[in-house]
Amino acid sequence: SILNLARPDILAMTGYSSARMEAAGGRIFLNANEAPTSPIDGEPCNRYPEPQPDALRAAVAQYLGVTPPQCLVGRGSDEAIDLLTRAFCRAGEDAVLISPPTFGMYAVCARIQNARVLEVPASATAAFAYPLDDALAALASDQAGQIKLVYLCSPNNPTGQVVPTPVLDAMLAATRGRAVLVVDEAYQEFADTPSALTRLPEAEHLVVLRTLSKAHGLAGERLGIAIAAPEIIALLQKIMAPYPLPQSSVARGLSVLAPAALTRTAERIAMMNAERERLRARLADSPLLTAVLPSDANFLAVRCLDAAALYQDLLSQGIVLRSLQKYPGLGDALRISIGTPAENDALLAALGCDLATSPL
Ligand code: PLP
Repeated sequence: SILNLARPDILAMTGYSSARMEAAGGRIFLNANEAPTSPIDGEPCNRYPEPQPDALRAAVAQYLGVTPPQCLVGRGSDEAIDLLTRAFCRAGEDAVLISPPTFGMYAVCARIQNARVLEVPASATAAFAYPLDDALAALASDQAGQIKLVYLCSPNNPTGQVVPTPVLDAMLAATRGRAVLVVDEAYQEFADTPSALTRLPEAEHLVVLRTLSKAHGLAGERLGIAIAAPEIIALLQKIMAPYPLPQSSVARGLSVLAPAALTRTAERIAMMNAERERLRARLADSPLLTAVLPSDANFLAVRCLDAAALYQDLLSQGIVLRSLQKYPGLGDALRISIGTPAENDALLAALGCDLATSPL
């Protein structure tokens, strides 16, 4: 079973018993040390929420085309990364395999857990394609089976690269029976490549991460989803905080997964993708930039003549970008998140792109 890869001490734990009983009405609840009255009229916020509300789990499962026991909703996909690290990596022994430049939380969570971080860097000269051969070699040389989590980020933050299906399949084959393959699809809605979710039925060692923070516009509510075999989901839930989801966030999560909201999400994705392509074309004019990397996500990495100076200059004009200075191969780059058309115009103007004579 895939649980053979999990930390034995966690497997042996009982976990919290925080199931709520509100569904069975007509009872007097004196069991959870809450306040008996609400501080806000009409809002029963004095009661602890369900650990995993059935309605939200069902809505998430339907949206993703999986079943509720395959889904765990947490405080952003950040929490899922933390739970995975804690569930699978023994401190001082186990390792995670990542491919920088990539999302920072994989290494952060591993270091907090005192797990090792093994790196197979993607190179700028290969357009930051996932270094499959290096990853396979790292797995092959892991005789002791200490690599427990292997991360693929698709589309990758901050390069915007998708992991092609043949690479995903090669990594699924190489990790089968020996490590958990975590495919982080935080930006999947912006790409037109197939989701790794299609591989779930045949891969009990696959975990897919999704989020409501990006395309769905709910970053402020902190709702992320881990999708995996029910045994993995149950394991992660065992070490999760007893009441991880504020009921106000749950309500908004349900709202954005309702059919009318999904139509608006599709419109938002179309707008952001169109803006990404408009920005990409116009940024080519900027005298301050040297290259715009391709991207299938809602951001663009751009190479600059002087990234540090440009970052500061834009900041002084009230425009905040993300410095990529600490990422290998991207020391001269900044990351631009796609904003509203007006925000993007302000950025283009600040970068010296003449809006009137731009190519689009
Ligand atoms: N994964 C990737 C690749 C990200 O870029 C981010 C956030 O930027 C996250 C996960 C975390 O998202 P959240 O915790 O909001 O779901």
